[in-house]
Order: sequence, then C-alpha cells, then structure tokens
Amino acid sequence: MKIEKLKILYVDDEASNISVFKTVFNRHYHILTAQSAAKGLKILEQHPIRLIITDQRMPNMSGIEFLKQAKQKWPDIKSILLTGYADIEVIKEAINDIGIFRYINKPFDFREMKSTIDGALQLYQLDIDKNKASIVLKEKANKFHNIFKFINDVFIRVDNDGFIEMISPSVYELFGYKPEEVIGKGLKVFMNEKDRNNGLLQIKETGSSNNFETDLYTKDNSLLHVLINSRMQRDEDGIFLGIEYLIRDVTAFKLQQNTLAEHELKLKRFLDNAPVGIALNNMQGKFIEVNREFSRFTGYSVNELNNLSYWDLTPDEYHAQEQIQFDSLEKNNAFGSYDKEYIHKNGHRYPVLLNRVKINGKNGEALIWSAVQDITKQKKAEGTIEIKKAITLLESKNKELEQFAYIVSHDLQAPLNTISSFVGLLEEECKDKLGDNADIYLNFIRQSTKRMKSLITGLLEYSTIGSKRTLEKVNCNELLSLIEDDLQVLIHEKGAVVTCEGLPEIQAYPTEMKQLFQNLIGNALKYSQPDVFPIIHISAKKQDDGWLFKFKDNGIGIDEKFKEEIFIIFQRLHNKEDYEGDGIGLAHCKKIVELHKGEIWVEPNPNTGSVFYFTIKTN
Ligand code: ADP
Repeated sequence: MKIEKLKILYVDDEASNISVFKTVFNRHYHILTAQSAAKGLKILEQHPIRLIITDQRMPNMSGIEFLKQAKQKWPDIKSILLTGYADIEVIKEAINDIGIFRYINKPFDFREMKSTIDGALQLYQLDIDKNKASIVLKEKANKFHNIFKFINDVFIRVDNDGFIEMISPSVYELFGYKPEEVIGKGLKVFMNEKDRNNGLLQIKETGSSNNFETDLYTKDNSLLHVLINSRMQRDEDGIFLGIEYLIRDVTAFKLQQNTLAEHELKLKRFLDNAPVGIALNNMQGKFIEVNREFSRFTGYSVNELNNLSYWDLTPDEYHAQEQIQFDSLEKNNAFGSYDKEYIHKNGHRYPVLLNRVKINGKNGEALIWSAVQDITKQKKAEGTIEIKKAITLLESKNKELEQFAYIVSHDLQAPLNTISSFVGLLEEECKDKLGDNADIYLNFIRQSTKRMKSLITGLLEYSTIGSKRTLEKVNCNELLSLIEDDLQVLIHEKGAVVTCEGLPEIQAYPTEMKQLFQNLIGNALKYSQPDVFPIIHISAKKQDDGWLFKFKDNGIGIDEKFKEEIFIIFQRLHNKEDYEGDGIGLAHCKKIVELHKGEIWVEPNPNTGSVFYFTIKTN
C-alpha cells in the first residue's frame, strides 16, 4: 500500500529558496509551494494542508498577515515562520495571537528544520486526536446527562473514605440539594444510620446491592421511598476505590401499589362475599380464578377448580350449545343470561343461570368473566308453586266430581225406587198372569235394583264424606265398642275375636272415623279364610305429628300387585259369588284418612292375612 505523504505548503517570494526547499524535503513530505501569500491561500483552498512554512518578509502580504488569514479559515493548521533578526519583536507578539508553532531564523539548518517540521506535524495529529476524543467524551457526557434527566434517578459516587465525590444533577429535583451542597459530605445527608449500615453490610457481603428498599430524607426533611442499586468500585489490583449508587424514587409507585393492593383486597373481599358465583376462564375454558360461592355450589375447592376446565362441569349434551355461546362471545364480547346445568363434584346435576363477558387480561390475552347463579332453590320454588297450582285444580275438579256423583246418585234414587215399587206391585197383583218364567225374571230385576240401590247409596255416602265438617273428640275405644255392637251378629257367626291395644282419644270427624273403623273390621271379617276363626287386632302408636293405626287380620291376604288398586273406587278382586261387595269400602277409607291429612296402605301379615295401616294427623 502506498503511504500518502503529508502535505506541507512552503511560501517564499524568492524562487531559489523554493527550489532548494523542495529539493531537500520532497523525499519526506508532499511539498506544495507558492511565491506569494495570495497564491498560498489558493493552494490552501484546494489541498488538505497540515503545515505552512512561510517567509515573513514578502511583498503585498507579510507572512504573519498570511498566517492570520489562513488560521481563521483552517484553525487546525500548524505553522512555522521564517524570519530575520530584525523582525523578532513583532513575531513574539504574533506567536501568541495567531498560535504559531515556531519561528526559525534564516538561513536555517536543514536538520533543525526537519525536526521542527516533524514536531509540528505530530502536534497536528495530537490535536486532531484530542478533538476527536473530546467529541466522544462530550457525546458520552450528554448521553449520561440525558439518561439521568429522563429516568430521574440519582447517581452518586462515594470515594474510599465515604465522601460523595460525584452526583447527578437530578439530586436537586429529587432531594432539593444542588450537587455542590452534598459533594464532599457523607451519605448521612440522605440516610439514617441504621439503613446506611444495613445497605453497607449488603454491599460488603456481595460487592453490590440489588433494589435495596429504604427511605431517604430530602433537604426539607420529608421522606422518599427509594430503591438503591449499588456497586463497589475496585481497581485492577483490587484496591477499594469507592461505591457507586443508583437511587430510584418509588414513592409514588409505592403509594400507588398500596392503593392498588387495598383496592385488590376490597375487590377480592367483595367477590368472595358475593352471593353469586364468579369465575375467570381463558378462552379454552380453563379456570384461572373463582370466588367462594362458585367453589361452594360446584363442590370443588378453589385449588381443585384451578386444575379444571369449565367443560368438566358441563354435561355432554350442553357442549354443542356452549360452543355456539363461546363463538358468539368472540364476536359480541358478552352473552347471557341463559339457563344450563352444572355437574356437581359428587355427580348430581343442578340448574344454573349464566352471564358472560369477554375481557382482556394483563398481557392482552382474551379472558372470560362469568357470573353464575345456582338456581336450584328458585327452580324448586317454581316447582312447588306448579304443584300447588295443580293440587288446587285437582281439588276443584274433585269437588266438581263429588258434586256430580252426589247429584247423579241422589237423582237415580227416585226412578230406582219407582222400579222396585212397581216390581213389588207386579209380583203381588199380576203374578198368576205372567207365565212360568215371570218369577225368575222378577227375581233378576229385584236383585239388580237392590244392587243398584246399594251402589247408589255407597256413591252418595262417598260423595258426602266430610261435607259436614266439625272436628270433635273421638274416643277410639268407645268407637270400637259401638262397631262391635253393630257387627255382633256377624262376629258371632264367624266366631271372630277382636282385640285392641293403646287406642287413643283424638280430634277427628266422628261419623267418618266410625265408617273407617267399620269398613276395615267389616273387610277383615268378610275376607277371612274358610274354616279359620278370624282374629282381628287393632292398635295405635303415637307419632310426632299424629297417630299410626294398625288393623291386623288372619284372612286371605292381598296379592302384592293389587296393593294400590284396592283403594280405587269400584275396584274388586273377587266376584260377587265369592265375596259380597261393591268395591267402595276401601275408597271410602282412603278418602276419610286423607280428610284427616293422613295416608293409608296395606302390608301382608307375615303369618297369613293382611295389615292395614293408616295415619291421622293431629297437628
Ligand atoms: P269390597 O269389599 O266391597 O269388594 P273394598 O273396597 O272394601 O270393596 O275392598 C276392595 C277389595 O280389597 C276387596 O274386593 C278385596 O279383594 C280386598 N280386601 C279388602 N279388605 C281385605 C282384607 N282384609 N283381606 C283381604 N282382602 C281384602
């Protein structure tokens, strides 16, 4: 590589001087020459000249004048002035004014000239380097300054004796001190001793401190909450030089943090005590946060829920519908309210009411807030209302039916009486004229009217049960005696034994209670086993809200499958030839028991026969 020679301008009005100079120094430098100052200025315009060597005495413009002009435009250029002895005083002044590197008396020694030239060129290079370095330094300082201005942190350097030797200007904004007020002082200007020692301890142990949190005093004695990062400074040999601190004011942040924490606590308390379930899910349905109520009605603990997805609580058949809701959530950001079911931890299902909103999480991710209400109670209440409504309807329908049954049975009685009266007359007055079969026919008519009469009477009685309602004291032992009196012929005929135990005195409808006892005992006698003496045992037991009665017989018993049927009106298990009856008795019993807000049912007697139970409510 060809090394470019440094450019030197030689100006002299004597052509012979120029050619000598050129001949001697051309080997070392790139010499440009001019015979006048004006020509020299032109060359300066065209070439990057580092050094000017000029004669002082020249026509038109002196060397000093020429250098003055040149230096104004190119201040970095070095210069050597060639003088005669007579010029010395003028030159001494000019040296300082213009900054001439050196002056040399003519005629000069070439070796001296060479070393002067080299010295001037070296200085030129040094100046350039110095300038560059100072620019870099200035830039760095600016950056440093800007950073501190921007972050508002305070930078402090403390020397190895613990005195502040450097501090950033931001100390004024933060602490109210000008740098000169604290330089040379100890850190106790800002810090109490305890914190100072704690901080120092940390630095001594680890060589630095990371986000050391403490309070510092400002000039007007108020406290700033700060974070301190510090680093011990040592030289290459490990000698302790001092400590650098970077102090960040976090008072406002801390205050904000405290307020935020307070708000968060309030919100958490509010959410936890909310009577509605609240859950936060990601868009895949995974639980991120739930409140207490949500955990209560799902049966899962908060921790368990954090490992579950919303889909784990949703029954399969709701999945398709749920997906649609999720899709609409993406578009509309909210949906609800709508009903669905959840699966409880223990497996059962229950109804819930949902509202959902899409929100953005801390990192901008989409999340879902759900407000979920367990509506089991409401649904039950709705159900109860429905049932109550149905009962009221049924009750009024029953009333209508009873009314109808009463009218029909009552009105049928008159024509039936007419038929039986006329059959009687026919028998008495026309028997002989009616032919051989008349007796049989008339007998059929008589039997049928009798049966119809008993059906109508039964129906009439059934429809009037409880119509004259007055609760009275009923002594069940006395009631039983009365019935035994009424049934004494039958009891005697059958050789039956009727026993009783613990029968109470109760508030009841007396006529209906007698009918109830009579029907049950009557059936026990009627449905006895052939050739077996009926044994009927009647007992009662006190219960919380009334009495439980028991009528036990040793009769033919009732097949399990007819247990319910026998209480329906006109339902019979036997035909008339085997056992007399209309199938009204037990329907009667049921109606009477229900009138007393009780229930009636039958169980088999373990030793053949049946046991009829009924309850009577007394409060
Ligand atoms: P009825 O006795 O007029 O047939 P009930 O309504 O009194 O009507 O009885 C209905 C049916 O229940 C009877 O037909 C009978 O089959 C059965 N039953 C009632 N009481 C007894 C009893 N103590 N033992 C066996 N069967 C009975």
